[in-house]
Amino acid sequence: MSDDAPSDAERKMQFLFQLRQKGVTDARVLTAMEEIDRGAFVRGHFAARAYDDMPLPINAGQTISQPSVVGLMTQALNVQPRDTVLEIGTGSGYQAAILSHLARRVYTIDRHRNLTRDAELAFTKLGLANITVLTGDGSYGLPDQGPFDRILLTAAAEDPPGPLLKQLKPGGIMVLPVGQSDNVQMLIKVTRTESGLDYDELMPVRFVPLMEGIARD
Ligand code: SAH
Repeated sequence: MSDDAPSDAERKMQFLFQLRQKGVTDARVLTAMEEIDRGAFVRGHFAARAYDDMPLPINAGQTISQPSVVGLMTQALNVQPRDTVLEIGTGSGYQAAILSHLARRVYTIDRHRNLTRDAELAFTKLGLANITVLTGDGSYGLPDQGPFDRILLTAAAEDPPGPLLKQLKPGGIMVLPVGQSDNVQMLIKVTRTESGLDYDELMPVRFVPLMEGIARD
């Protein structure tokens, strides 16, 4: 390594600086993102780019989201320490790991068994004991474990899936990208109020589509 190469500490400072610059200002979210090593969720030579603010490829043709998007989604979810959170789309497990620092318990589902298996190994290695990882079609949620205080989708649906809306507690918040997979999607926030559901548009995003059924690999 040359003397000019940034140290890990410098990389991390730059990472946090970029997050703040892109609007991630919640202190608890920033602390969680400082503490969880994104490198633990990225394989092979891409690990060197773990602290760059860019999405990266993971197994099964999926991607680990851009850190600033993870930060902004987590911030919008406004997770409280006693919350039970459901995440649809485990992917690498990075987002679930961030949530595990903010919530009491996290359930995360992916339709690819090899992704849930790797994510589970990473959680064990990092000692994150409050995450339950499941393989399945997350569109149906987890009726037996719900209802949930917070629900986060990291794959894009055309509309918020009905079963997930049903599993959102009163006062609960769900954040998800909606729209066609090949178009610009909108990140929205759905809040269950006493009188029904409130919808807020947050920002344009691009995620892989929410697919039906369990993957065969
Ligand atoms: N949150 C992840 C990134 C998610 S990428 C991270 O932090 O790395 C989107 C993921 O959604 C993919 O892994 C894909 O397999 C998963 N997915 C797509 N449709 C799904 C469905 N119906 N149920 C569960 N997972 C799904």
